[in-house]
This record gives sequence, structure tokens and C-alpha cells, in this order.
Amino acid sequence: MKNHVYNFSAGPAVLPEEALKKAQENLLGLPGVGMSVLEISHRSKPFAEIIEAAEMNIRKLMNIPENYRVMFLQGGALLQFAMLPMNLLGGKSADYIITGTWSKKARSEAKLVGETRVIWDGGESNFNSLPTNEELRAAVNSDAAYVYYTSNETIQGVQFPTEPEVDVPLVCDASSEFFYKPINIQKYGCVYACAQKNCGPAGVTLVIMRDDFVARSPELPSLLNYKKLSAENSMLNTPPCFSIYMVKLVTDWLLNTVGGVEKMYEINKAKAALLYDVIDGSDGFYLGHAQKSCRSLMNVPFKMQTDALDKVFLEEAAKENLCSLAGHRSVGGFRASIYNAMPVQGVECLASFMKNFMQKHG
Ligand SMILES: *Cc1c(COP(=O)(O)O)cnc(C)c1O
Repeated sequence: MKNHVYNFSAGPAVLPEEALKKAQENLLGLPGVGMSVLEISHRSKPFAEIIEAAEMNIRKLMNIPENYRVMFLQGGALLQFAMLPMNLLGGKSADYIITGTWSKKARSEAKLVGETRVIWDGGESNFNSLPTNEELRAAVNSDAAYVYYTSNETIQGVQFPTEPEVDVPLVCDASSEFFYKPINIQKYGCVYACAQKNCGPAGVTLVIMRDDFVARSPELPSLLNYKKLSAENSMLNTPPCFSIYMVKLVTDWLLNTVGGVEKMYEINKAKAALLYDVIDGSDGFYLGHAQKSCRSLMNVPFKMQTDALDKVFLEEAAKENLCSLAGHRSVGGFRASIYNAMPVQGVECLASFMKNFMQKHG
């Protein structure tokens, strides 16, 4: 059993208890293998079966067609910020939609590599809103190599309800939401996610890329080259075996216990509503950061009128076993990350704690 603490960390974050238990059960020896997943060769048959099963799970869950590659890469999302333009620009420029800390960072890395244009920037309102499709369509450069966006801004709690409607293929950082609901993969040249928010532990990044995007890679060092990485099924060198194994267990849970991402989405909507209902019904005691039309189902940043009670809130929450609720310094207050693996009961506890806290201090 876990120690009954609800972990609202933004990442690395809560994992499904079932996946952790399975890993624990089989840590000393994989069934029928007699050696730990931590000990076996990445070229061995048991590991080949693990990485193939992980890929199959991902393809099934996200309905990924044959003309997309699934890669398991290292270096986190941050390396993708640079690898994407290195591989995909092809002498052109790319359009960036800046909706928060992570897209801003992605663009500043891309700028070191090639030409980029910012087509929308929400910085003036401290990233609490999103562009409309009209704004985007008017701003997109039709000759752009790709349009880059961050579907869920983990720090600001701003989430695109649907993909931006533009005529240029999308490249999307879905790090803090991948697997939270179904997506229409055909709209993407690439969608990627570091695992440690909603897909597994730190150490592996899932990169889903259309074949014609993979084919764009110019001559680059092997480990930075999608064409080479994909040709070798992410095993150009030793991959992060244990992290990939955990992604397999997390996706097993999503498929078999939860019943798929559509079901997950229903649960995620219900969980987020519990918190937003408390915030909206608090008569201004709690203030959400993001505008209502784009607030995130994964990360819920909120604060109080002043920060005078912030410390008390965190201390009293910890006494109720509600942990890792401090907000990011750029937004202040609190942030409840309620990824797929956060049980409904955890969110219910937090919602009732917030109501009680308001009654006591409001
Ligand atoms: C956490 C996060 C990142 C950074 O991921 P690393 O793996 O630490 O590089 C990038 N984008 C988003 C949306 C994130 O939530």
C-alpha cells in the first residue's frame, strides 16, 4: 500500500498504484525470465517484448495510424525543444504560439537553431488565455515548416480544448496531458510528451511523428536524428529500459483497468469540475489563474486574495495528507496537478479541504 498521501506534484508526478505494484511484484525477476528488467539486455527478447507492447498500447490508446512512428527518446522535453527545429526546419521558418512558460522556453531553444516566428504571445496577461482560431489563421505563415504549440501549459494551467485549426501541420508539446483524452492525430506532424507528468516516470520522452516529418532529418549526429532513431526503433544505443517498462505498465492500466482514454477523459472532466466548482463558488476567496474558457483539466493553479494565508493553507493541507500543492513562483498561490493517476478520492479530499479552509478563514 501507498502511505495514503495524495500527491499533487506537477512532475514527476503520481503514478497508478496498480502499475507501481506490478513493478514491485516483478522487480526481482520478470515472470518466466528470472532476471530483473533492470538487469537484462535491451537487445534481449524479453525487453523487445516490453518495448513492442508499450508501443502497441500507445498506438491502441491514441489511435495512431501506420504512417506515424512511435519513438522512446531521452533528454526530456527540453531536448525536443532543440531537436524539433534541428530536424524539421529544412531551411524554412517555424511559427510558435506562446501560451506559457513551456512554449516560451521551446521557442527560445528553437531560436538557437534556426528561424522562428512568434504568431501569438499571451505574456501580457501572464498567460491566462489562448488565441482564437481566427487570430491564429490570420497570423500563420502558410510557408511555415510547422506550427508549434503547447497543448497544456503545466505552470499556468492553460489548456487548448481542441487543436488549433490551421493549415500547417502541428507540432505539439503534450507533456502534461498526453493520454488524458483522445486526440485527432492526423492534425499533427508530431506530438510528444516527456513521460514524468502523465505517462510514466522520468527518463523517457514519447515522440509520435508522421513519416514525412521523420524523413525531413538532415545529416545530424545520430542521437539527434529522428530518421536514424526511428530506423533503429529507438535503440540506436541503450534506451531508458526501466522507464519504458513503466510506460508499458501505465498504459496497461489505462487500457485494461480504466478502459481507454475516452473513459479517462470523462473521469478527468469530473475530477477537474470538483475543484473548479469550489473556486467558482468561493465568492472570490479562491481565484483561478486561467480564464474559464481555457482552464486546464490537468493542472489547477489558484490563489487567495493575498498570500498571507498561503503557508497556513499548505501546512493544514499537509496534515490532511494533501501534498505538493505549492504554486509555481511565476504564478504564486497553489497548484493542484490532477493527472490521470490521481484518484477521484484525492480530488474529493482536496475539494472538501478547500471548502473547510474557506469556512474557517474566510
Ligand atoms: C515538464 C514540462 C516540460 C519539461 O520537461 P523535461 O522533461 O523536464 O525537459 C516541457 N513541457 C511541458 C508542457 C512540461 O510540463
